[in-house]
Amino acid sequence: MEVEVLKEKLFNNLTNYSEEEIQEIEKAYNLAKDLHSKQVRQSGEPYIIHPISVAIILSEMKADKDTICAGLLHDTIEDTPITKEEIAREFNIDVANLVDGVTKISKLNFSSKQDRSLANTRKIISGITEDVRIIIIKLADRLHNMRTLEYKTEFKQKENSLETMEIFVPLAYYIGAYRIKSELEDLSLKYLKPEEYKKTEEKHLLIEEDSKHCLEEMLFNIKNILECNEIPNEIKTRTKNIYGLYKKLSEGKKIEDIHDLLSLKIMVDDITNCYITLGLIHSKYNPINNKFKDYIWNPKTNMYRSLHTTVFGEDDRLVQTQIRTFDMDEVASFGLTSYWNQSKDNAREKMQNDLKEKYQFFKSLTEINTTFGDNQEFLTQIKRELFTDKIYVYTTKGDIIELPKGSTPIDFAYRIHTDIGNSMIGAIVNDDKVSIYEKLKNKDRVRIITSSLSMGPGKDWEEKAQTTHAKRKIREFNKR
Ligand code: MN
Repeated sequence: MEVEVLKEKLFNNLTNYSEEEIQEIEKAYNLAKDLHSKQVRQSGEPYIIHPISVAIILSEMKADKDTICAGLLHDTIEDTPITKEEIAREFNIDVANLVDGVTKISKLNFSSKQDRSLANTRKIISGITEDVRIIIIKLADRLHNMRTLEYKTEFKQKENSLETMEIFVPLAYYIGAYRIKSELEDLSLKYLKPEEYKKTEEKHLLIEEDSKHCLEEMLFNIKNILECNEIPNEIKTRTKNIYGLYKKLSEGKKIEDIHDLLSLKIMVDDITNCYITLGLIHSKYNPINNKFKDYIWNPKTNMYRSLHTTVFGEDDRLVQTQIRTFDMDEVASFGLTSYWNQSKDNAREKMQNDLKEKYQFFKSLTEINTTFGDNQEFLTQIKRELFTDKIYVYTTKGDIIELPKGSTPIDFAYRIHTDIGNSMIGAIVNDDKVSIYEKLKNKDRVRIITSSLSMGPGKDWEEKAQTTHAKRKIREFNKR
């Protein structure tokens, strides 16, 4: 019964697809149902529930037809007799490659020491740059598995949650899929630290109840102001997710000091109106110092764009307002996948191009791949640069730079510009002169001292640098 309900839900989501596309998806559905017919999930339900649910998540992102077909078929190569070649024949090579890619990425094992499996791991990781849809399907797969984790053993629950935090949360962040990221974080916390999760969940509920009036009042007032100024808009309220709240509280923050605990998302029609809206909000609500960020002028490394300003809202509570265009908001919710919605015809191509040129994760991945010949070195660098915590530091102009934890002024300098790295003779962090080997911390303000008399990067710089980009530039300079 439930299968039929889910099937209907999926096909109801397919309103923007052509008749042929829907037929193809139906074909994938029937094939998947047939192939998995003898399998049941741990919950006792028919297995097909899982692939349909994955396809539903993808359809909510308005994924293209091939991606939805691959979502339906994503476990068939692994669990049933069908081969990649047969899928290619039945559908097309793209669908076959997607299913194959998802199958391989599921076998990714970061901790193996055998060289053959190291080489294999490397191949899988480099492969995901060729078609980002593999990551998106894998994220949808993981999201559904995490949503239904209650049927697994406690050991499996913890293992999956840990892996989700280590690999899939960063991946969701890198492609800017914030909705998926925050749901994955909450689900992981629930299984990793059940007690803390429960306590935080209760606090979260109380906060939502307690702030409801304040947020609605502000929403009403701002909507009024915008309408008086004839700015088309849509406003939504949001409370920080449970994991985010847990993290802040465990860092010792008090609830009333968390500047982005409560937020209003304000969507307007164009960029000029974003800045006009900012001015209108500041003339009604007092902003707090230092919490204004212009991610429109200076987008995050995953292309998130928005203006952030935290103000004293109703009852003097801190409320963060996020001001952006409707298009930017799509990117903020679904990341790269919003391309499907914004440019239906050449979405795939635009996605891949932007990935290579704009998204830091893919630039770093490609750079690590070309810089490190040795498989073990490659993987070590992937872990220490991409699957690690981030720090955010400021340039003297106030721009925010994201770097992997453990980065030094050397990494900072080369991120700004190769010439700055090559002519660096010292660094000033928060008004103090520091060693260029010193590890930077969150919110450090960094100034690089350069000199035209500099001899260029020293021999030991390469080893002290954390990022591949800096290492590579130092190596290049020293080769000359
Ligand atoms: Mn699966």
